[in-house]
Amino acid sequence: MYCDFVLITGKYNMPLILGELHILYCIFHMHISVCTRQIKFHPLRYFCLWRHVQIAAHSHVLVAFILITCGFSYFLYDFKGADPGIKNSLLPVSMSFVGAAMIRAAVCWLGPAFRRPVAFRSYSSAPEHTSLKSVPYGTTLKQEGGPSGPSKPLPRSADVVVIGGGSLGCQTLYHLAKMGMKNAVLLERDRLTAGTTWHTAGLLWQLRPSDVEVELLAHTRQVVSSDLEQETGLHTGWIQNGGLFIASNKQRLDEYKRLMSLGKVYGIESYVLSPSETKDLYPLMNVEDLYGTLYVPKDGTMDPAGTCSTLARAATARGATVIENCPVSGIHVQTDDLGVHRVRAVETPHGTIQTPCVVNCAGVWAEKLGRMAGVNVPLIAMHHAYVVTERIEGIQNMPNVRDHDASVYLRLQGDALSVGGYEQNPIFWDEVSDKFAFSLFDLDWDVFMQHIEGAINRIPVLERTGIKSTVCGPESFTPDHKPLMGEAPEVRGFFLGCGFNSAGMMLGGGCGRELAHWIIHGRPEKDMYGYDIRRFHHSLTNSNRWIRERSHESYAKNYSVVFPYDEPLASRNMRRDPLHQVLLEKGCIFQERHGWERPGYFSRDGPAPVLDYDYYGAYGTSRNSIYKYNDLLGKEYTFDFPAHHHVIKDECLTCRNAVAVFNMSYFGKFFLIGPDAKQAADWLFSADVNKAVGSTIYTCMLNKEGGVESDLTVSRIEPPAAGQSPLAPAFEGHGYYLAVGGAVAQHNWSHIQAVLQDRGFRCTLLDHSEDIGMISIQGPKSRHLLQDVLDADLSNEAFPFSTHKVVQAAGHQVRAMRLSFVGEMGWELHIPRDSCVPVYQAVMAAGAKYGVCNAGYRAIDSLSIEKGYRHWHADLRPDDSPLEAGLAFTCKLRSSTPFLGREALEARQACGLRRRILCFTVGEKVPMFGLEAIFRNGTPIGHLRRSDFGFALDKTIGYGYIRDPDGGLVNADFVKSGKFTIERMGVVYDATAHLKSPFDPENKRVKGIY
Ligand SMILES: Cc1cc2nc3c(=O)[nH]c(=O)nc-3n(C[C@H](O)[C@H](O)[C@H](O)COP(=O)(O)OP(=O)(O)OC[C@H]3O[C@@H](n4cnc5c(N)ncnc54)[C@H](O)[C@@H]3O)c2cc1C
Repeated sequence: MYCDFVLITGKYNMPLILGELHILYCIFHMHISVCTRQIKFHPLRYFCLWRHVQIAAHSHVLVAFILITCGFSYFLYDFKGADPGIKNSLLPVSMSFVGAAMIRAAVCWLGPAFRRPVAFRSYSSAPEHTSLKSVPYGTTLKQEGGPSGPSKPLPRSADVVVIGGGSLGCQTLYHLAKMGMKNAVLLERDRLTAGTTWHTAGLLWQLRPSDVEVELLAHTRQVVSSDLEQETGLHTGWIQNGGLFIASNKQRLDEYKRLMSLGKVYGIESYVLSPSETKDLYPLMNVEDLYGTLYVPKDGTMDPAGTCSTLARAATARGATVIENCPVSGIHVQTDDLGVHRVRAVETPHGTIQTPCVVNCAGVWAEKLGRMAGVNVPLIAMHHAYVVTERIEGIQNMPNVRDHDASVYLRLQGDALSVGGYEQNPIFWDEVSDKFAFSLFDLDWDVFMQHIEGAINRIPVLERTGIKSTVCGPESFTPDHKPLMGEAPEVRGFFLGCGFNSAGMMLGGGCGRELAHWIIHGRPEKDMYGYDIRRFHHSLTNSNRWIRERSHESYAKNYSVVFPYDEPLASRNMRRDPLHQVLLEKGCIFQERHGWERPGYFSRDGPAPVLDYDYYGAYGTSRNSIYKYNDLLGKEYTFDFPAHHHVIKDECLTCRNAVAVFNMSYFGKFFLIGPDAKQAADWLFSADVNKAVGSTIYTCMLNKEGGVESDLTVSRIEPPAAGQSPLAPAFEGHGYYLAVGGAVAQHNWSHIQAVLQDRGFRCTLLDHSEDIGMISIQGPKSRHLLQDVLDADLSNEAFPFSTHKVVQAAGHQVRAMRLSFVGEMGWELHIPRDSCVPVYQAVMAAGAKYGVCNAGYRAIDSLSIEKGYRHWHADLRPDDSPLEAGLAFTCKLRSSTPFLGREALEARQACGLRRRILCFTVGEKVPMFGLEAIFRNGTPIGHLRRSDFGFALDKTIGYGYIRDPDGGLVNADFVKSGKFTIERMGVVYDATAHLKSPFDPENKRVKGIY
């Protein structure tokens, strides 16, 4: 019998033969062991083995034969010597082996057309991969006989129509109703939870490396563990069994310690445990290879059906309507007199609902819903799975476990575990089916198998535990593994609440509330930029390559440590500025922002290009084996000072002491022109930008709550003398040139457009970002350098700070602006695309005698924090007012000119500041990156939003917002009377608070006073 095994390997290559021999040896070994009753059965390993056999042994007939033989041996010998319980777990497993083998044998006989490729798979889901699994839930939840019409009559109109009755749809509806909206309707194609939600694992972890996410998760927990029960008297099924994060190396434990420090600010109880303490808590765990763990006792598990039905009940009690069996088949969009696309109605087979607002909470179907309205929804559907084990003695009441390094999670499910994880080669579901409801896919063990070893290593008893069922369902994933929320830039009134990357249960409550706030008040309460659809440039959201590659990488790296200087490898080089090649050759190590490649720093070891994405070797792609860029990234994977600290130091100090050139071409460059441009500028910008032509003003744009939506420079320009110029369009009246951070250009664009539309200003906003490059020359020697290149007088009198001029640079027309992002004397040159390279080369040639260097954004980050300049979406966000952010000087509050956000600012000013940003320097030289906890007299009062090392001060610097825990005013007395400490990874450091930037507090350097 065993000779047959050798025969079947004959037609394959050597590694395959060796693999098969090993497998067949295992079968042989097990078979013998079964017969002699010496074996301890390891059902989970059997599953793995079965997949190996399927891959290796193409003759399924033989495999079936082997397994039938094994099965017979098992029955024949009755297995008296085996462990108790093994029999029970082995029976279904071995029978399913045999059954599956026979089916495969039949398929094999039917011919090659039915055979599936074995060694290399396509990453798209072939029809076979998405075959529906008919057990075990189909008969229990699916409505017999299919949909029978809507569960309620459709109203003729609604204030809001929420599409999709999963976690997000139900949470959004509930929060809309709770915020007082009476006429909100939820339409669900099938029945509530039918998409992804019904089979979720439901884990809720409270600590994430983001302050906003910690707040969102806290709200979900509050809703499911308390609010809903109080409102309805129903228990949602919430179980508080705690959460345990596993660290198998130092960096991972460092990351957890960072989370623990952040948790203190939010009152989230957490403990870093030693391996032996972990063993005491979780006796079934193998702790031999552990560095430590993070234990969060109040984490827990949500029940999807219980949560959604209670949400629906609470929402309907407050006047909302839930209609099931009612698929949305179309969305009516109308274009108004100003050319703005707006939602008008939602169409279903059972009637049309007039509405100005829809919320797309359609999970993996959200992309289709988007297409109905002409909106890009950049998400992709993938198979995502876990398996449920048989009963495990001693597992009851254990916390859920996330073993990031093994890429698996273990969720307590009664007296069993669910085991799931994130693979390197997830299966894409390209043809998302409309008929898929309460359905699952067959689990692909080829893909899932990679989790088994890690799971068994962590909980060894799993090796002897059977698998009761497999749960493999569709879930949507996005290019940065963050949800898609907010109003779509393409169509007003079309909101997104989708793309939840297997966190839609735990984020559902927090996001549902923010979405409801967004709809009702025009903006969310928190800083939701990280989830806002406008964080992506429109050229990316309709690029299939970008969506697929980046979503893959984000999925595969989901459990990776979030290091401060990491960069994606997928879909790079989407947007390159004119200086890209020249800088690459000079050793530029690029960062990716908004699709652009922008300089990070300059390596002395020559070019390190970013290569085409290799899917980390998944799907049969060959890995980029020699990959310098990736190697450089790897060297920075630390929470200590990074490997290139000294390189950044050189760039910073050259800028402080001589002169440095920064390529900032990725900046967004817009022109605001038209008959109402002046009125629009007055309303949009917090500062008075209507100064003389030639002025350049640093300003904020606010929302109506007085929060900062953007900071930017606005230059009042004149029309080009020759009628047309690459540096300015033709226009009459007032015209403005806006320079905005390149990473937030889409957000700025959409914000301005929405304000222009809402106010009905007759203006045009033109995007010239791709046509104009920009270099910034900064440092005490910048004037000397540029005097050799520009045909202009650069003295303080002729060219003062905060002004601009169109001048000649090495024979090319450029717009020179005297500005600084780093706190030095310097000029930006805004250069027509075709002139960028010659102008840059002229600058570098002229700078040689002054010791000029190229510098990147890592240096800008350090220099700007040292000077105390804000970074939008770090130390300046939509939930911070300019008063709290120390930017009151950007607000024309002394004028009588109305502007967006003015009333809210005045109200805040009248009450006095209850929170404010503060600069801290740290006594000891330790690296900090943001999220560290700030204590005043031992009490947590905030956390650092941004931190970096300042090389001129030779100190770690951090900025964070602080509050008085007693709710009092945060004024100079409060600051001066406190003793401040900062906690980093559980260690407390003395810190000094500064009311003014400690570097050049009198702003002499930008004025050229050295
Ligand atoms: C295996 C697995 C494990 C997971 N584990 C966790 C976890 O531990 N913790 C966690 O937080 N998250 C987890 N998730 C993710 C979480 O379950 C999802 O993020 C969440 O359920 C998504 O909810 P949703 O409302 O966005 O989508 P869905 O639940 O898919 O809801 C979308 C709804 O829209 C409906 N719909 C579609 N088209 C239409 C139409 N044309 N008209 C009307 N209705 C329509 C669908 O029928 C569906 O009911 C897991 C996911 C999977 C697959």
